[in-house]
Amino acid sequence: MLRNATVLLIASSAAAFQISRPTAFSRTTSLNISEGDVVEKVKNIYKDAPAPTDYDKVVTDVYPGALSNKDFQTRVVNVLAAKGFTADNTLLATSLCCDELARRLEDDFNKVYGNNFNLGGLSGFPFAGNTGFGAMAAHIPDDGSCLIIHGPHVGVAKDGTVGKVERVGIALVDNCCGSAIAASNYLKGITDGGAMITTALQEFTDFQQGAVQELILPHGKRLADAGEDRMRELPLALYDSQDLLMQDIVKAGAGGFKKNGAAVIGGIQINTAPDTLDYFLPLRFDLVNSKGQIIDSLLNEITSGWKE
Ligand SMILES: [Zn+2]
Repeated sequence: MLRNATVLLIASSAAAFQISRPTAFSRTTSLNISEGDVVEKVKNIYKDAPAPTDYDKVVTDVYPGALSNKDFQTRVVNVLAAKGFTADNTLLATSLCCDELARRLEDDFNKVYGNNFNLGGLSGFPFAGNTGFGAMAAHIPDDGSCLIIHGPHVGVAKDGTVGKVERVGIALVDNCCGSAIAASNYLKGITDGGAMITTALQEFTDFQQGAVQELILPHGKRLADAGEDRMRELPLALYDSQDLLMQDIVKAGAGGFKKNGAAVIGGIQINTAPDTLDYFLPLRFDLVNSKGQIIDSLLNEITSGWKE
């Protein structure tokens, strides 16, 4: 009964998000490039991309298996094009942090598939939840699919410091991800035994960060055991919590998928200094049907099994 009520609530909330399809005179949410052009489009995006430097090696030493955004996006677009994902029939949905650095990857995928539906919030958690996901699914073209990309992010500064990154116009090489590091410090206060007892409940003025701090709690020992590598381990721990949440949300909302189901990519977004490509460490790349079942894993096709 409660479940039925929840489904009804999700359906009606999704309807509230509904927008009419674009007309010839309205702004379109798609770039309307024709089938097959996605591969050309991604080539053009990166045709002037900077060549790899020693800094790129620093990033891949910290996170082995991480791909530059150029390699990551090129491979994803090519693999999905072979599965029938075109610019016309694919809705892009992301769950990435609020930080403007998290937009870099999103902006590049927008150039291929059009504007994204935003499911994410602080630390990249899918705070839009079941209702947001239901609304997103309702916006997938009738004969199409959605591509979901989610992950926490982490900065790697030019000197190799993990958890910090250079930003344009700011002299201070500052924390990245700030939300994740604040949650890590909160957790450290608990595991070290020095945290103050508080009777404060979660506040609406900062409820996303309150949730991040709850979601990191199971990883206290893991992060303490990481010692000096705590900042390296932090996004990986957050990813595990986020992956569980996203899997639940996808399963609950899969009934709304259209003809071709969804592709779900999860991983760690790695931000670098302004003059260098960002990186992405892919940890999941699944095709999911409208019953919420994983029907194929494509992770190997963009990692060790990739062929030009
Ligand atoms: Zn962040």
